[in-house]
Amino acid sequence: MEFPKAYVTSRILHRVTRGANLRPGEITHLLSISCRQEADEVFAAAREVRSRYFGNRVFLYGFIYFSTYCRNNCSFCYYRQDNGLSPRYRKDRSEILGIAKELADSGVHLIDLTMGEDPEIHRQEGYGQLIELVAAVKQVSGLPVMVSPGVVPEETLRQLAEAGADWYALYQETHSRQLFKQLRLGQSFEMRNLARIQAEKAGLLVEDGILLGVGESLADRVHSLRQMSGRKNGQVRVMSLVPQEDTPLSHLQSPSRLTELLAIAVLRLLNPDRLIPASLDVEGLQGLAGRLAAGANVVTSIIPPAQGLAGVSQSTLDINEGGRTVAGVTPVLKQMGLTAASLLDYRYWMNFCLEKERGHNHAHRYRGWPVARC
Ligand code: SF4
Repeated sequence: MEFPKAYVTSRILHRVTRGANLRPGEITHLLSISCRQEADEVFAAAREVRSRYFGNRVFLYGFIYFSTYCRNNCSFCYYRQDNGLSPRYRKDRSEILGIAKELADSGVHLIDLTMGEDPEIHRQEGYGQLIELVAAVKQVSGLPVMVSPGVVPEETLRQLAEAGADWYALYQETHSRQLFKQLRLGQSFEMRNLARIQAEKAGLLVEDGILLGVGESLADRVHSLRQMSGRKNGQVRVMSLVPQEDTPLSHLQSPSRLTELLAIAVLRLLNPDRLIPASLDVEGLQGLAGRLAAGANVVTSIIPPAQGLAGVSQSTLDINEGGRTVAGVTPVLKQMGLTAASLLDYRYWMNFCLEKERGHNHAHRYRGWPVARC
């Protein structure tokens, strides 16, 4: 006998909100929901699970895309080497430090230093300039630092950690080898996976992520969500493709918003105590509330206006208007009964996550974080 879809959804949510793990078939079921009312139930379950670990607190990440040069040709990316339309810039050290300070003063919890795989930086033996930049940003901002330089040698990951980097972000985009070949043209699937493992061994927290709407099947989505959740990632993300002019995937359509929101919610159900971004880089400020309501707990891609900086998926949206700032985001949080966490909360969570990933048995000290401390 086949049960009605809505009934199956309720049963799954009942189980998972009581601590059961989601099975592959259940993930497929949740990702296939098309009814808004049923989807709202999934989002409510994701918020319930989130609030157990994080209360109503949300983290805010400042984003500095400091070089848009890249040696790669990812088929979805506006900044791929062959795209003559893409704006190219490379910010110098003093500009980057000024922006990091401005972001820190505005109240973000972390500085995300992102670049394309800039040939000039990747050509440099030992990546000395990048390592020094991380140390300087850490010092001037007084904040945790995430670095997203692409694939770098293991020794460089160790040196980045020693220089003060806390996070290494490297998105696989898909965990299907076949699709990976069509997205990250000429790049190694294994090397990307390995780089995250090496970063974790170097003592860094790690972020993985996927893109939706790039030709993946439902089974690919399920596989990716499980892959990201089964690893020691501190932060996991899904983002929708925003088709970019003059790229091989420019003919595709961005997936429906519901598709991304369900993927965020399922990711939350799979990863109750991890960080899940609500990126401002897909729909700007306008898309923030929906992503937070689906269970995300980090606002990423906060960019100071009038600094000539770009976003990744949306190179200009809401940047000069000041929408992608702490001041722009705060009213949305308030409206949703959420609030920006303190920096102490953020550091506390990072320690919790590192202890847990190292397999140290101190994670019990953080049990109930941060709700127990409210
Ligand atoms: S996604 Fe990153 S590595 Fe790929 S082309 Fe764009 S900037 Fe380069």
